[in-house]
Amino acid sequence: MTEPLFRDAPYERENEARIQRVDERGILLDRSVFYPRGGGQAGDAGRLELAGARSIEIADTVKGEGGDILHVPAPGQALPAVGEPVVARIDWDRRHRHMRFHTATHLLCAIVPHPTNGCSITSGYARLDFDMVEPLDKAHLEAELARLVAEAHEIRTVWITDEELDAKPELVRTMSVAPPRGVGRVRLLEIDGVDLQACGGTHVANTREIGAIKVVKIEKKSARSRRVVLEFSA
Ligand SMILES: [Zn+2]
Repeated sequence: MTEPLFRDAPYERENEARIQRVDERGILLDRSVFYPRGGGQAGDAGRLELAGARSIEIADTVKGEGGDILHVPAPGQALPAVGEPVVARIDWDRRHRHMRFHTATHLLCAIVPHPTNGCSITSGYARLDFDMVEPLDKAHLEAELARLVAEAHEIRTVWITDEELDAKPELVRTMSVAPPRGVGRVRLLEIDGVDLQACGGTHVANTREIGAIKVVKIEKKSARSRRVVLEFSA
């Protein structure tokens, strides 16, 4: 399996690693700062830098079996050999947008008191689907998001046991990146005074860092589903 460095250090942009396997699905590293697509959050893009000023552009990152992280090269590149040392460097601008949007979806969850049933976080927008019949007010959502961003709430991760999580099922929301189970502990994301839920994604350290957000669309997806789409204002 790949040691997932983004989990404890979401602000790390690069790491040294060694190539474990190369096949048509992607390049397996022993450790990586690259976040693999999951729980609605897009996979990271970036570059693997090799000896001799060679490099490989990585277009996407996905999960393999058993905790493997597969770095998917953009097409048409010469692939590296197993055992080669690399520096894995993420496209930070893109990742930081994922982190800001992902954190904003947690705020939206705190504002809208209904379960979610779909989520997509990209560098251009975030989309969250709520299981609800009531209408949503765009101006109200934008004002509440702006308030929570301006209030500069600290964000931290907390670990609890599987048993503690089982006793509090409300901590699992379907929007969240499915927390890894069976290792005895589960990762929670806490936005101080605002939201607490199990999540394995990447987030910013303070809500202030999200910046100005606008609600670009509220859509009635079905009788029981309301979709909210967010973009950055600037
Ligand atoms: Zn999250």
